[in-house]
Amino acid sequence: MAVVVQKFGGTSVADPERIREVADHVARTMRRGDQVVVVVSAMGKETDELLHLAHQVSKTRPGREMDMLITAGERKATALLCMALHDLGVPADSFTGSQAGFITDTTHMNAKILEVRAERVRAAVDAGRVPVVGGAQGVSTNKDVTFLGRGGSDTTAVALAEALGGVCELYTDVSGVFTTDPRVVSVARRINRISFDEMLEMCAAGCPKPAMRAVEFARTHGVKLHVRSAFTWEPGTWITEKETDMEDAIVSGVIGDASEAKITIGGVPDQPGVAARVFRAMASADVNVDMIVQNVSEDGITDISFTLPADDLPKCLALAESLASEIGASRVTPDSSIAKVSLVGAGMKTNPGVAATVFETLAANKINIEMISTSAIRISVVVAGAECDRAVAVLHTAFGLDTTA
Ligand code: ASP
Ligand code: MG
Repeated sequence: MAVVVQKFGGTSVADPERIREVADHVARTMRRGDQVVVVVSAMGKETDELLHLAHQVSKTRPGREMDMLITAGERKATALLCMALHDLGVPADSFTGSQAGFITDTTHMNAKILEVRAERVRAAVDAGRVPVVGGAQGVSTNKDVTFLGRGGSDTTAVALAEALGGVCELYTDVSGVFTTDPRVVSVARRINRISFDEMLEMCAAGCPKPAMRAVEFARTHGVKLHVRSAFTWEPGTWITEKETDMEDAIVSGVIGDASEAKITIGGVPDQPGVAARVFRAMASADVNVDMIVQNVSEDGITDISFTLPADDLPKCLALAESLASEIGASRVTPDSSIAKVSLVGAGMKTNPGVAATVFETLAANKINIEMISTSAIRISVVVAGAECDRAVAVLHTAFGLDTTA
């Protein structure tokens, strides 16, 4: 009998009817002969609502209390799902993260798992019961309740699958991982199988699901992931260790991400230590810089451009401006309306000309490229924000990813 960890996201358990449907699916999986362990997110938008509530009540929002508040969302969902399972004659027990043995560090709102002591969960499974575990939570080494952060339920599920030696199914409101966002490009195609490396590059490029941390964890521990729909229940996308096949597409996915902004520091003296100072300052301000481009200098003067989360733009701009005068740069130019468009595919390693095709396709469509960066299996370009969807669509077509209905 295989252990299957089934994780249900917020939309999958958004209302009573959905909770009963999920219970029904768990019962069917049990009848098939598998042992099921369930991980649930908070119902619908509850996590957002709890965060909003905290903002309305408090200015200080102590981390310990925030974690106690937010994890209540998942806790509520575990109890309700267990009740629905009992109604179907399936014995089930709810567990908080702490009860399920999730020991974390003490970083509130973004705790890291240190250890999973899965004995209680395993005992429930061995007794023929279905453990239903609250996602994204644990107990710290200080014995306080902790929250693993947004999207943390995926990590809970993967960690449990690793502890129990099972596979992990992530149920969501889309039927898998797509070649691009199907809401933007209607001819997007579901990917049947993708490697951890490609999935991680897609996550880093802005693909919202599954959560990157969970994919990293799954790769490190060799846990097979299956991303699939809790609405149609059809098979979705397998994320595994797979090597590329001959018949694989060169590009697996195209991702548009409009969540970043760009800063250019112009007229920078080309001297050792300048970039170090700029990016140490950004790091100290807790800013996750993404792409960085520095020009070849002319007459000892150069430009440095970089992208960063748009939310951090005001703070970074102020920093860059004060740094500019210290390092003798002549100007700082922000741009909040950019988009990063990335193509990911393991086939890039062995197929020359991918970059050329990207640039030709954008040129033919009169889309200007502002920045370029690459890895072994990814090419990203920065374009004007308004061109994002069009750039994604034309590249999706150019690399033969459109469905041929
Ligand atoms: N409910 C939490 C969130 O929305 C945790 C999770 O679902 O992963 O971020
Ligand atoms: Mg969620």
